Amino acid sequence: MTFEQLGLSAELLRAVHEQGYTEPTPIQAQAIPVILEGKDVMGGAQTGTGKTASFVLPMLKRLEVHANNSMSPAKHPIRAVILTPTRELAMQVHDSVKTYGKYLALRSALVYGGVSIDTQIAAVRAGVEILVATPGRLLDHIQQKTVMLSKVEILILDEADRMLDMGFLPDLKQIIQLLPMQRQNLMFSATFSDEIKKLANKILKDPVLIEVARRNSISELITHVVYPVEVSRKQSALMHLIKNQNLQQVLVFTRTKIGADRLAHFLSRQNISCAAIHGDRNQLQRTQALEDFKQNAIRVLVATDVAARGLDIEELTHVINFELPNNPEDYVHRIGRTGRAGAKGYAISFVGKDEDGLLASIEKLLGIKVKVDQLDEAELRKQQNEFVKKTGPAKEDKEKTRFSQEKKRFEPRFGKYNETNYGATGRKTAAAKANKIEDPLFTQPYISKYPDIASLATASELNKKTINKRFANRALPALFTAINKQK
Ligand code: AMP
Repeated sequence: MTFEQLGLSAELLRAVHEQGYTEPTPIQAQAIPVILEGKDVMGGAQTGTGKTASFVLPMLKRLEVHANNSMSPAKHPIRAVILTPTRELAMQVHDSVKTYGKYLALRSALVYGGVSIDTQIAAVRAGVEILVATPGRLLDHIQQKTVMLSKVEILILDEADRMLDMGFLPDLKQIIQLLPMQRQNLMFSATFSDEIKKLANKILKDPVLIEVARRNSISELITHVVYPVEVSRKQSALMHLIKNQNLQQVLVFTRTKIGADRLAHFLSRQNISCAAIHGDRNQLQRTQALEDFKQNAIRVLVATDVAARGLDIEELTHVINFELPNNPEDYVHRIGRTGRAGAKGYAISFVGKDEDGLLASIEKLLGIKVKVDQLDEAELRKQQNEFVKKTGPAKEDKEKTRFSQEKKRFEPRFGKYNETNYGATGRKTAAAKANKIEDPLFTQPYISKYPDIASLATASELNKKTINKRFANRALPALFTAINKQK
């Protein structure tokens, strides 16, 4: 099967070939023709399968009829809305829209929370055919009347399961209420829970079900290795592997935010360039860390499970589980970052005695027995003796330098970088928390700011309702359910 056989236009094929793709991935081969026919699709595919192109390419093809170079915003109403659970995923999807649509006169914009809405307002007011958004921020725009959804022809929900886990259901319902009834709906999800099926029944009309990877299936290209390592020896084990195997780009998972910080601090001290991403890192820090990692400017990215959801990192050969996840399904998500698009990958786990039970549940879920290897105890001891003990510059000086560097990078892109909000440490201050910066992924639990407007017909009624404080602080139970399940 070639891309030429899928019914895409010359402009799209040109952009695809420029990416060096020689043939469609299974999800692309199956989904593209169906979406081009205008049918609704329920796609079962994880990140790493090429799912983004499987909906972006046919979406662009269907919107080609609207391509125009007019300067008038009225000539560029929103025709497609792509919703994602996280900003990182939204950015990746938007990059794909720009990459594949580079030879088409279609405009796109990206809106997500946690940053100033003003620059986004300017972008959407200019008129865009394609809007990539996280649900909460899209509702902010709807409320401010900066976006109009009455001309939407295609709705795409990416990582729908993650959106439900994060408590976005009420926001989704509201957005859907504001869309025209006549439209094409595409929904992608890595898992098919009952909630997902219920959502699919509500949104999709006679959907074609396309599933390319069984739930929890893992790439055969990944080699799994377990090293039994006591907690006190894990840092030595990591250093040993990085040095011995000369690893240049490693994603390391820890279970907690504190653990991620501690490990990143340790590695920096050992002169291994690294960064940590987790819930307490602000948007700039996360974007910067990911970008540095992708560009090979840092060797190690330390991440917690939540922060790493949906990250698309190409050519990653090694994922190291410094600690096993509490939830076995997170193992699948973690290692999904390697062994992609035909490349080989290694998933290495350091397993302490207290983690044997976690390993057993991962093996049960995957239906495989993971190979157990031993690290040389004498080597680890030697490694530990070589650890750099010196502390470097005073912590305060380092924080000050980091703050001013971040400010310089942040302001041209997102507007004022506020010390009240982010403090010199880069952590959210009490003032920021009180301001409730919208950040559903990182200030859990997510609280929808909007009432359930299933019964409301227009955006203006929505505006009136949202003024009512009674609706403002309703916590959503979905996340707690998810957390409880993990225990
Ligand atoms: P996704 O599952 O959409 O996150 O895509 C995973 C990665 O696969 C991305 O880095 C894409 O650039 C890449 N990719 C998508 N389609 C193809 C293809 N047909 N051939 C090779 N790589 C692809």
